[in-house]
This record gives sequence, C-alpha cells and structure tokens, in this order.
Amino acid sequence: MTKTLLQAFQWELPADGSHWRHLTEIAPQLKMLGFTGVWLPPAYKGAAGINDVGYGTYDLYDLGEFDQKGTVPTKYGTKEEYLKCIDTFHALEMEVYADVVLNHFLGADETEVVEAVAYDENNRNKEISGEEQIEAWSKFTFPGRQGKYDDYQWTWKNFKGVDYDSRQKQHAIFAFKGKEWADVDEEKGNFDYLMGADLDLSNPETVANLNRWGKWYQALTQVDGYRLDAVKHMRFNFWIDWLKQRVAENIPDKEMYVVAEYWSNELDTLVDYLDASGSIFDLFDVPLHYHLLAASDSMGSYDMRNLFQGTLVDARPDFATTFVDNHDTQKGQSLESWIEGWFKVQAYAAILLRRQGTPMVFYGDLFGIPTEKIDPVGPQLAMLLKIRRLLADGPEVDYLDHEDIIGWTRTGTLRKPHSGFAVVMTNRQGGTKEMTMSAIHAGEIFRDALGNCEETVTIDDEGQGVFPVKDGSISVWVNEETLERLM
Ligand code: CA
Repeated sequence: MTKTLLQAFQWELPADGSHWRHLTEIAPQLKMLGFTGVWLPPAYKGAAGINDVGYGTYDLYDLGEFDQKGTVPTKYGTKEEYLKCIDTFHALEMEVYADVVLNHFLGADETEVVEAVAYDENNRNKEISGEEQIEAWSKFTFPGRQGKYDDYQWTWKNFKGVDYDSRQKQHAIFAFKGKEWADVDEEKGNFDYLMGADLDLSNPETVANLNRWGKWYQALTQVDGYRLDAVKHMRFNFWIDWLKQRVAENIPDKEMYVVAEYWSNELDTLVDYLDASGSIFDLFDVPLHYHLLAASDSMGSYDMRNLFQGTLVDARPDFATTFVDNHDTQKGQSLESWIEGWFKVQAYAAILLRRQGTPMVFYGDLFGIPTEKIDPVGPQLAMLLKIRRLLADGPEVDYLDHEDIIGWTRTGTLRKPHSGFAVVMTNRQGGTKEMTMSAIHAGEIFRDALGNCEETVTIDDEGQGVFPVKDGSISVWVNEETLERLM
C-alpha cells in the first residue's frame, strides 16, 4: 500500500484537552483527503501537565487518567478520548502511529542524594569535577497513580544523570557514580544527555521496565507503529529488542511502520545510524528538509538541480520518511527552519509526487497555525494529495537539469489510461520545460491541475510536451479529462 501520512498536531495547539476529540471529529475528512495513517503526539502525562506538548515524559502509564501534574487530562485530552480517537481511525481503515519518548523523564517526585561527576556542557567527555554528592531530582514514585498498572518506582539507578544539583543550585551535566555515557552521536563530545533525568539504557532493569510498559501500551492501544523520539541520544541498538518484542506481540505478519527522529543534516551520519541501529525503521529525511529550506530562503539563487542530492530519499529511499516542516521546525520552536509560504506547494510536490520516500504532511501546513497567523497551504495541497492517490502511476523520469526550472514526470501506464502527470517548478523565473510523458498520451491535452497556468499543452506523437511554469511557481500537468474528474 502506498502510504500518505499526517503528523496530526503542531506545537501551538490550545492546551485545553480537546485535540483527541477534534481529531475524532475530523478523521473522516482526513480519510477523504487521502491520508492512510496519522502520527499522534505523545499521549502520556508530561512534567508540564496540560501544557506539556508531550516530550517531557513524566508518567508513561498516565494517558490522561490520573490527577498528576495538576490535571487529569493531558494537553490532548483523556485516556478514554485517546482510545476512542484511535478506534475511529481504525474503523476508517487508517493506521495510527504512537510517539514514544524513552530518552528521558522529567518532573521527578523526589530528590535523592547521589555521588556524581560534573561534565563540561559543551564537551561531555571532559570531567569538570571529581566525585561529589549532589541532590538530584531522580525519584519517580507517581503518587497520583498509586501503583495502578505497574508499581515500579524509578530511582537514580535507572538513569545516567541529570543537569541540576538542587543542593548547590548548580547547573552542569552530571553523570551518576559508576555510569558512563553511551557511545552515541558526537555532537557536544557525546550527546547521550539531552534533558531531564536521562534513562540508563545499559541497565537491564530499566530496559525491562520500558519493555513491560511497551507491552502494556501496545495491547491497550493497538497502534500500528511508532515514531521514536530523540534516537540520537539513545544507545543505538536499544530499539532492536524493544521493537522485536512489539512486533512479536502484534497481530502475526502485520507490518509495523516505524520512523525515528535523528536530527542531523549530515547524510553520512544518518546512513551510519541506520546501519548501527539494525536498518529496521525509517528516518526523517532531514537533509531534504534543509534543501527545501535553502530553496525557500535563497531569493532564487539556490541551484534547483541539487534539490534531491545528498538526501536520504536519494541515498536510502526505502528508509526515508520525507517531510516539509514539523512541530520543531515551525516558527518559535527549537529547530526553527520554516519553509515559507511561496515555496510550500513546490516543497509538498517534492515529497507527495515522488515515487520514493514515505511523505509526512504537517498539521500546521494542512490547517494553518492561527497563533502565528500562518494560513493553511490551501486547496493546492489537497490537489497534490489527490494526484498522488489517483494518478501516481508508472515509472518516474527526472529532468533535474536546470538551475532554476526542474521537473519530472510519472509516465502513467497502459493499465490505467490517463494516469501520470508532469511536474515543473522554479524558485526563480518561469519558463517552459520540454519533458517526455509517454507516447501512450500522444494527442492528449494536458492542463495545470493547480490552476497556476491557464494554457493547455498538447502531447506530441513521441509523448513529449512543452510544459510552462510561472515565476517562483509550480504547475502539475495532467490529462484534461482526468482533471475534470478530480475537481
Ligand atoms: Ca540519552
């Protein structure tokens, strides 16, 4: 099945516990748009309670059920509403992927006095203290849950370290006595520590607990896959066993879609990580995102021939989940790198109308971000989704051969008359591009499905057409009779 996925949240959603209900309501609309699956945000209670977007994991077993961190519901609603939302998508034969954040916990219930060593914030291989006693927020007892589902209490032994000594009121990267940072990404010397209480994934008891939770969570939710948070900060082979168990517990022979977030613009780093982590899941194509950003930001000087060069979808197409923007790249967030409105449709064509890669559309693009006064991308995005679903057939032929105007065709097939399309886009001046569809289209009249160009293009006897595009724009040319059926 061709996947077309939606990241079904953005950072600035109102913190009013309404999102699961809202998604339940719009699920049929998402189905109509052509989405086959949705990535839902982390569903368990975060340290910031109802204001937590979900990445500040506090209690994995509290899916909006217990009065903890000042609220019963999470930012998105209650456990009951979450499960109903998943059931609704499943009833529509859509898949649901859960966001799991297993690198760190935040919001400990108690402190512990622990021996620890401080490391330089910018070089975590460099010790800046001897062993000293610190008071660490590292004990999680979950008093509001009182042991329901699981009565395990987490202590410093389950963690590698913290970034705060509340006795001295000192900030530093502290590793607990006897603990070593895992061999992970080398940014900052060693990037095992990201935030909060960093989970010790070399401690079998910690791993056993995360597996016990995974078993409980999957049996309860019946999710169809996972989005793995912050994997560059976690022991690289951790996920092999964890996912092996989830797959074994799932319906036999069911494929599970898993995508991991490894935030790096370096293709080599991503490929090395895929190898080291068992090549068992997709990664987000971060290099492609930055290429799209460069094209969006360069005032026309970006060389469009490079759009897919050095991207994951080019190097490892079967492992690439492609995206335009996400909750971290949106304006005001930690990785802000927002692709501007004028280039959004080009960017979405570069993920939705390509044969390779699994495209993930961003909620903030589909529905806008009202708090930032950002409008939805609009009907052209819906049209791209429709073209992907109905016309993306046959081989793909690239014309990535001009610094301003590039294009590609899907030739269509004999089996499906009138399938196929021709994409032409530019980040500078408009013009035309001669491309071959296929001689099976000889004599057909093509029109721009996006409505940016008014004229028609006639496909010649050899299947060629000369396809126009306007300045800083995109056109997607399809058979005109087919287009009438799409409208
Ligand atoms: Ca870590």
